[in-house]
Amino acid sequence: MSENIYDVVVVGAGPSGLTAAIYTTRRSLKTLVLSKDIGGQAAMTSDIENYPGFEHVDGLELMQKFQAQATKFGTEFAFEEVEKLNKEGETFILTTSKNREIKAKAVILAFGLTPRNLNVPGEKELIGKGVAYCATCDGPLYKGKDVVVVGGGNSALDAAEFMSKIANKVYLLHRRDVFRGEQVLIDKVQNTENIEIIYNAESKIVKGDQKVEALVYQQEDQEKEIKVDGVFVEIGHIAKTDWTADLVDLTERREIKISRDCETKTPGLFAAGDITDISYKQAVISAGEGSKAALQAYKFLQGANAAAGPDWS
Ligand code: NAP
Repeated sequence: MSENIYDVVVVGAGPSGLTAAIYTTRRSLKTLVLSKDIGGQAAMTSDIENYPGFEHVDGLELMQKFQAQATKFGTEFAFEEVEKLNKEGETFILTTSKNREIKAKAVILAFGLTPRNLNVPGEKELIGKGVAYCATCDGPLYKGKDVVVVGGGNSALDAAEFMSKIANKVYLLHRRDVFRGEQVLIDKVQNTENIEIIYNAESKIVKGDQKVEALVYQQEDQEKEIKVDGVFVEIGHIAKTDWTADLVDLTERREIKISRDCETKTPGLFAAGDITDISYKQAVISAGEGSKAALQAYKFLQGANAAAGPDWS
């Protein structure tokens, strides 16, 4: 595969990356999606109720449909992380975690955001031993147990609601007294019997020897402790864009700056979805951005004067 030059390499396989691949392959562009997983953050969401056309769908199931559609049109997939991106002449060279060099005429960066850590003692040591960052993935391991979800946005609310159906008891611990998520999710969480909300609480230590035993937190001037088997950290995401930095401009939050048509400062290099500086991080928006990036990449590959044109052929 390393001898091939792809027309387009898409980095990331969430809603934006997979949609981009659907669009590029429908334009007969030889396309490779490079990603560490399928679906990204959307696949970690158990209940999606705001994706048009689906009254209610499991995030992973929705992303598998995207992947099947991309595969049907000829997208190739490789499950490798990209560690380096260079441009030599007109060709992009992507170096992966398997030390492979992959060449492309155009690249679409759509690798989304990475979960933020609490950065408290015990967290790192107990990852996989009770500390988790994805309720949909790891939640089923906590059947009948007591867990805490930390955070106050849609991810935390969603995770608490999901875990309430599996765990015996769910604590939802938020550092303020107001949630920043959607009202419909807040109502669900507040009206679920086995969810106890702890407001104005700052996580201090994840306690445990071989596995999580408790979370210590500060509330006003008191230090308190809850005994739990699992700590789900759902406190937002950060942009890990260091490896792209020479070829793109970044915002203060390290997100990739793009034009209205998903262009970066480097010709032939596009970006789409949550990793960019767009305002709203939603699956449906990412999908739309992915299609824009793909049409713009097509236009780039056809030469500057070509119009992207419609996609209803
Ligand atoms: P978010 O909206 O940025 O919320 C992060 C939450 O974590 C905030 O409540 C924040 O507290 C808290 N937080 C941040 N750093 C913290 C720290 N060091 N210690 C303790 N708490 C901390 O992130 P998100 O919930 O992951 O959502 C990300 C995006 O995905 C949002 O746009 C969201 O709408 C979207 N999303 C949507 C759905 C859905 O539609 N169902 C589901 C999941 C995610 P403060 O409030 O005090 O800042």
